[in-house]
Amino acid sequence: MAITKTDFMRGMQCPKMLWLDKHKPGLKVIPPEIQERLDAGNDFGDRAMGMFGPYEEMTVYRAGTTIPDKKAMLQKTQEHLEAGTPVICEAAFSNYNNYCAVDILRKTERGYDFYEVKNAPEVHEQFVRDAGFQYYIMTRCKLKIGKIFIVIHGPDEDRPFVPVDVTREAKGYYKWINDHIWNLNRMQKQPEEIEAEPGAQCSNPYECWYYGYCHGETPTDDPNRIHTTDRM
Ligand code: SF4
Repeated sequence: MAITKTDFMRGMQCPKMLWLDKHKPGLKVIPPEIQERLDAGNDFGDRAMGMFGPYEEMTVYRAGTTIPDKKAMLQKTQEHLEAGTPVICEAAFSNYNNYCAVDILRKTERGYDFYEVKNAPEVHEQFVRDAGFQYYIMTRCKLKIGKIFIVIHGPDEDRPFVPVDVTREAKGYYKWINDHIWNLNRMQKQPEEIEAEPGAQCSNPYECWYYGYCHGETPTDDPNRIHTTDRM
């Protein structure tokens, strides 16, 4: 087990959430409207791959499944980096098994810029942290990263992909990521369930899909809860 971008963000919101993801994922309840937003986010991400013209996609699935084959993706990414492919989508990187897949890598004269795609009308701090995590992994993999952009969903549907430069802010998260990633690695492996008192973290920054398990109720019992996802 290691830490992905999603694991890191979920573990920072609540360590118990990360532990449940690894040990009791069957308790997760994703409301249908959230699943719809996740699907819409994935569709927006797929369309964004072509925003710079021709590209190579690194996604590889395990035979007969829709589960990403990370090992094959890592190898394919290395091949395209060595070949100097100008635009690489879903580029995979691993450092001590900590892993990320980057939406769009674009070659520059001195290295690569990268683009994190979000189906949202504006940049939220959580998006910048996501980008910071990817910067951390790629930097530790010795890839030279120049600029970092969040691609948001602009108002013009004919040209919906709007890059926002977050280079300074995202790179500023390097130490914060390093300060926590190893502890989260240890925590997710421990056999005993992590104890956490339900509180503000259950819906901030994102609604927790274990809400019903920890609060002893069904997910729709509280009409005041906010439904959000990181792919909206
Ligand atoms: S419901 Fe709250 S306490 Fe339980 S795992 Fe989620 S964030 Fe943590």
